[in-house]
Amino acid sequence: MRVVILGGGIAGVFTAYFLKRRGFEVVGIGGEVTYPTASLVLTLSMPHKEDVELAKRSLEIYREFVNPREVTSVDILPRWVDLSKLAVPHEVVDAIDGIRLSQDEVAVITKDYLIPVRKVVTKLRRELGFVDSYGLLKIKDRKAYVVVDGERVEGDVVVLAAGYRNNILAQEAGVSLPLAPYECYAVVYLVGRKVWRYSIGDYILGWYGRPLSPPLYIAGDGCGRYGQGPPPGYMQKITNLIRQRVGHIFPLYLKTGYCEIGPHGGPIYGKHPEVENLYVIGGLDGYGSMVGPALAERLVELIAGRGAEDVYRLEKYFGIQVSNPCNIAERHDWSAVLLRNA
Ligand SMILES: Cc1cc2nc3c(=O)[nH]c(=O)nc-3n(C[C@H](O)[C@H](O)[C@H](O)COP(=O)(O)OP(=O)(O)OC[C@H]3O[C@@H](n4cnc5c(N)ncnc54)[C@H](O)[C@@H]3O)c2cc1C
Repeated sequence: MRVVILGGGIAGVFTAYFLKRRGFEVVGIGGEVTYPTASLVLTLSMPHKEDVELAKRSLEIYREFVNPREVTSVDILPRWVDLSKLAVPHEVVDAIDGIRLSQDEVAVITKDYLIPVRKVVTKLRRELGFVDSYGLLKIKDRKAYVVVDGERVEGDVVVLAAGYRNNILAQEAGVSLPLAPYECYAVVYLVGRKVWRYSIGDYILGWYGRPLSPPLYIAGDGCGRYGQGPPPGYMQKITNLIRQRVGHIFPLYLKTGYCEIGPHGGPIYGKHPEVENLYVIGGLDGYGSMVGPALAERLVELIAGRGAEDVYRLEKYFGIQVSNPCNIAERHDWSAVLLRNA
């Protein structure tokens, strides 16, 4: 069976990887590699056990390629938060070197992993024969195909895995998906050695950060409407928040990135109900490097005819419009749990 994959990020290349391992013929149309040279973070400190399972499996998959660096993970939460469902070994402390906590706050200590995603994705793209071109999704008589540089590329199956462009490409082809793009922003800082040791999720003040190569650090927050750019004063606002927690840090520059989210605040995969041969993997939100490889493995199981019923299946969300992605609580962080219990 021949599978055409549109999109060469984490979702696309790992789908290709697992398909190839099962003996499928794969044609990968990848677009540009969009990842920074710096590693992305994989945390297991997430409120939903299904997400933790995916992240654990993704970590095993990455270890076939690289040796992820371990880093201390610090999640700052209100003292009253219920951690009984946190499905990984953790320690809850009242004080931690270099981070200011108030009396009604605790730090939940776990282990995070820094994954050199660009390196892994680039290697897989090369080995799996992805081309760097951009393609268009087309649908005729309920069958999907792809057009690249004016040429028609057909497959028994077409997989849409184009990141924040998934629903844009689907709509151009005349169908829709329960996915929406959004912007997120991050600031690169110079920090002292104490802060640099930690991957921090501050769910009280509302920012997260992780180490780059020393003495650099990257930190940001939430969500912006697609196409609008960062709000005025963003860098100062986020810098003030972080200084409240860790003292002096020096901002260098601001970066804008693009993500995509589903109606349940997380990823989806599955077959498009209206098109015979179209499969989708997307909505990986701010945690694609944590859950992407394992989700791609599940998609391949489905294409091979043995798919699992789980909370990520596209069919469950089909028909729901995501009108404002910034109103949706992201599954992978603790903010939604805090809001529910506040
Ligand atoms: C600033 C920032 C920091 C982040 N940090 C983390 C982190 O630390 N940990 C974490 O887990 N996640 C992080 N994320 C989220 C993570 O990057 C995404 O969840 C993940 O990249 C999504 O993977 P994807 O393969 O679905 O999409 P993408 O990574 O967007 O890949 C899509 C690919 O498709 C290609 N493409 C697009 N259109 C076409 C087309 N028409 N034809 C062919 N190819 C096309 C693109 O060029 C790209 O290569 C971060 C995101 C941002 C923006």
